[in-house]
Amino acid sequence: MSGREDHGKDQVKKRGPGDGTCQHVLMRILLVEDDAGIARPMIEGLRRQDYDVTWVQTGSEAIAAAPHDLVLLDLGLPDLDGERVAARIREVSSVPIIVVTARSDEIDRVALLDLGADDYLVKPFGFRELTARIRAVMRRVADRLDAPEPEIRLGSLSIDHRTRAVTFDGRDISLTPKEYDLLVFLAGDPGAVISRDEILRTVWDENWWGSTKTLDVHIASLRKKLDDPDLIRTVRGVGYQLVEPAP
Ligand code: CA
Repeated sequence: MSGREDHGKDQVKKRGPGDGTCQHVLMRILLVEDDAGIARPMIEGLRRQDYDVTWVQTGSEAIAAAPHDLVLLDLGLPDLDGERVAARIREVSSVPIIVVTARSDEIDRVALLDLGADDYLVKPFGFRELTARIRAVMRRVADRLDAPEPEIRLGSLSIDHRTRAVTFDGRDISLTPKEYDLLVFLAGDPGAVISRDEILRTVWDENWWGSTKTLDVHIASLRKKLDDPDLIRTVRGVGYQLVEPAP
């Protein structure tokens, strides 16, 4: 295990109680993986990069674990299905979850992102890819936390960044984390036509390589939940546009 005094570049920056003071702490990763042959080299590599890694081998241990800064979640666990573990963690926490899966069919991927997983890696993967994904996910979380506007109000649509609560037309709208991020991104520039590429890069990952169908699935789900087919318009061949709703 690497020394805790070493301050590398992959640490979480936490604001101190004063203004502008920062203290660096090791980023705590919860690794949920029952296969020791996969887990051991991951732990070794992550610790060498100064991550603080806790390893558990079952879904129930993962659910019971203390809060972490990020969860790496294998889907094939001996006791519980990984999807259930992700959903249970998501019920109580917005901790970033990167799913590690040997399954590669697309329906699973979309379902995973719907469950609130922030990203996924398909086995086998390289260590560099793993750390790149971890950094990308943590960057997005930091951006989210640094959101300057506490609230977006557009006509009858309001989005509260502090509580992630969305109301539209007087109704509370319950969204998955990805649907929320997507709506916030579109609502950040109402009236603008935003390209599919830009949406996928920003809301998902700059290195997103999954199917662009994921985006359509999320748009369709947003429209259904908002119950207004005109709020988010499809601009054929380009992308999407959020039209400012009436008050
Ligand atoms: Ca497994």
